[in-house]
Order: sequence, then C-alpha cells, then structure tokens
Amino acid sequence: MLTDYHVHLRPDAPAASPDAYFTQENVERYREAAREAGVGELGVSEHVYRFEAALDVWDHEFWRQNARDDLAAYCEFVRSTPLRLGIEMDFVSGREDRISSLLEAHDFDYVLGSVHFLAEGGVDHDGYDVWERLGDPDRVWDRYFRTLAEAARSGLFDVLAHPDLVKIWGNRRPAPTRDPRFYYETAVEAIADSDVAVEVSTAGLRKPVAELYPDPAFAEMCLDAGAPFSLSSDAHEPGHVGYEYGPTVETMREWGIDEVAVFERRQRRMEPLG
Ligand SMILES: [Zn+2]
Ligand SMILES: [Zn+2]
Repeated sequence: MLTDYHVHLRPDAPAASPDAYFTQENVERYREAAREAGVGELGVSEHVYRFEAALDVWDHEFWRQNARDDLAAYCEFVRSTPLRLGIEMDFVSGREDRISSLLEAHDFDYVLGSVHFLAEGGVDHDGYDVWERLGDPDRVWDRYFRTLAEAARSGLFDVLAHPDLVKIWGNRRPAPTRDPRFYYETAVEAIADSDVAVEVSTAGLRKPVAELYPDPAFAEMCLDAGAPFSLSSDAHEPGHVGYEYGPTVETMREWGIDEVAVFERRQRRMEPLG
C-alpha cells in the first residue's frame, strides 16, 4: 500500500479560491497523478487557517488574512468525491479545547497535526521568522520539539505532519549547537506515550533542506519507541502527488519500516508498505 494523505487541492496563495480548486475536474487531476504514482489511498488535508472556523481557535495575523472559506462546505465537497477527508490542523498550545471542538464538528477520516508557529513566530514562514524573534537557534529547536511533544500528548491528532519541519531552511538559518538528537528525544518520549503516527513526508526534498522529514536519526528513535508511520507528499499541485516515492519507500525499508498507516473515520489500521 502507498498512501498520500497530506495533500492540498490548491496552492497556498490566498487568491487560490475554493471555487477554482474544489472541483471534480481538479480532483480528477490529483486522482490521475495518484494512479500514475501507484498511490492506492488518496486524501486531502487543507490548511485549517484557510477556513473562517479557524478564528475560533486562534487569531494570529496570518490566520486573519487567510481565514475566508467555509469548513462545512469543504467537508461536503470532499465527501462528494472518492477522496479521504482530512485536515491539516495547527497545534496551538493552550487552545486544545477549541481545536477539539472544531475537529469534533466534522467527520474527518484523519487529522494531521502541524507545528508551523512557535507563539507568534513562523517556522516555515519568512514573514514571521521565528529565528529573528527568538535569536538563538538552540532556543528555536528546543521550543519546536517541546511544542511537537505537546501536540503528540494532546491526543488531538492522528498524524504528526512533517515532524522536523524546523530544519526546512537548511543552511539558510543558523543550526543549533547541540546534537539534534537531544531535541528529538523530547518529542520521541511524547510520541512513545501517545498513539500518534509519524509522517514520512517527501515535501522536505522540495525545500531548501532537500531531505525527507523526518531525519534518519529521528526516524530511528521513533521506530525504537514503537511509533507507527504514515507516508505523504504534502502536495500543493497534482504533480507533487506521490513525489519521489520510489526512493523514499526504499529508504523507509532501510530504516526498518515495513508498514504504513491507513485511516478511515479516524480509525487507523496498518498495511504492508509498498
Ligand atoms: Zn504544514
Ligand atoms: Zn501541508
């Protein structure tokens, strides 16, 4: 089995409207790409902050600029297609009850949990650069993985998306001085204590870091902790569906991963990888 659950039907540009992208024709483009890539399970997971309902959770300036669409209409549209229904939900520390209410109001097949912001600072967003805000790269990494640990322990999510997103910029941001495994450990303890799957994401290959998420050492620690893994591309266009899956599946096997998580109505089962 190959899956692609972390998929966006449209680019991140605010002008990319649901009317233009939430169409049967666009879905068919993604399904065709999935067939070509041998992806048997295809789901979509739009960013929560594109929906008005997200402002019930948080009111970051970036969210206020983006939150325009109707979440119920999105869910209804996806249910009118053969796609699995997911969402990419940011973890916002202290807002767990609000996140839970939003998620419970819809019948998702799975929920991806992402850490894109540390307080007001963006990990993968130039405009709110967390390195400028926090200064010390070790503080950024420490804060990132402690927040990821909180996200795992919250029990709100089925999958931890792009689990070491903090490395996204590669050498365009200062590296931490401590061995990264020191920071991974914080998250891995929480992953071991929870039942959340860890996403292997090929999106990192398209970013400045040019690596899979997670790092091999992080993946090994998650495996030792008994974590299940999922596989996704974080596609924002049809051409990204199943991106670089051939070599990625080989790498996953080398790491010792032989099963992949499959989701339906927030129930997980494991299927043989490949
Ligand atoms: Zn993301
Ligand atoms: Zn995404």
